[in-house]
Amino acid sequence: MSDDDTVPADVEHEAEIPEDHPRYQDLLSRHRIEEGIEKGITHLQGMHAEGRGSAFDYLLGEETIESADEAERAAAAHLLLAEKPVLSINGNVAALVPEKMVELAAVVDADLEVNLFNRTPERMQAIADHLRDHGAEDVKGLEADARIPNLDHQRAKVDADGIYAADVVLVPLEDGDRAEALEAMGKTEIVIDLNPLSRSPQVADVPIVDNILRAVPNMADHARDLADADAAELRAIVEAFDREAALEAAEERIRNGL
Ligand code: ATP
Repeated sequence: MSDDDTVPADVEHEAEIPEDHPRYQDLLSRHRIEEGIEKGITHLQGMHAEGRGSAFDYLLGEETIESADEAERAAAAHLLLAEKPVLSINGNVAALVPEKMVELAAVVDADLEVNLFNRTPERMQAIADHLRDHGAEDVKGLEADARIPNLDHQRAKVDADGIYAADVVLVPLEDGDRAEALEAMGKTEIVIDLNPLSRSPQVADVPIVDNILRAVPNMADHARDLADADAAELRAIVEAFDREAALEAAEERIRNGL
């Protein structure tokens, strides 16, 4: 990754990162996470998660592989079929793709809910404000008037009319305990995570092994393409998706470059 030498270490604004740089997406993500930490929306541990993700993305070839594209289409179909879809936002998600999450929520008519591993009232508020600055109208998560069963107190907090009541939830970059607890509640769970062996994609109904920077806009594109599809067509897409095959294809690409 020595190409990074050509970019100043202290980039003031992301526009200074040349788009034709071979490590552009990686540099952009690092910059956004750093900025998120400075703004108080991302926890310092978010940089560690980002580093791990970036190593997997490097091995994936920093592209959306075919099985991930299929997963993103199946995820879009699930969200369009849902009665009550909710998109969960943590500090990394808010730093990396705030406007893309707002856009996806609008396309599939979902709610956005802030949900943090390291929850403080200040960070909750800062993320809600950040999402509103990027076009969100209603942001859930601040009420915290319901609990996910079988999780410790802080991580269990959700809104009764948000994640608690959702039938389909998108949980990007989620920690394994919460992903397992949400699955146990019987929700249809869509996970975006670059590590196919992490517990969250392992328990997901739709594991998306792709960088969130690429996955979210691609899901919105698929949802727009499917906007006129009827329920039978959407259900057929959902049923044709094979979660085991998607996980295996991603692992195969990472381990063997195939
Ligand atoms: P588990 O508890 O499920 O084993 P973990 O401890 O590996 O999970 P965390 O550190 O809580 O997971 O979450 C970070 C996860 O998000 C990692 O698996 C990492 O690969 C992934 N990740 C980080 N950045 C991105 C990104 N930009 N796009 C997609 N996934 C990412």
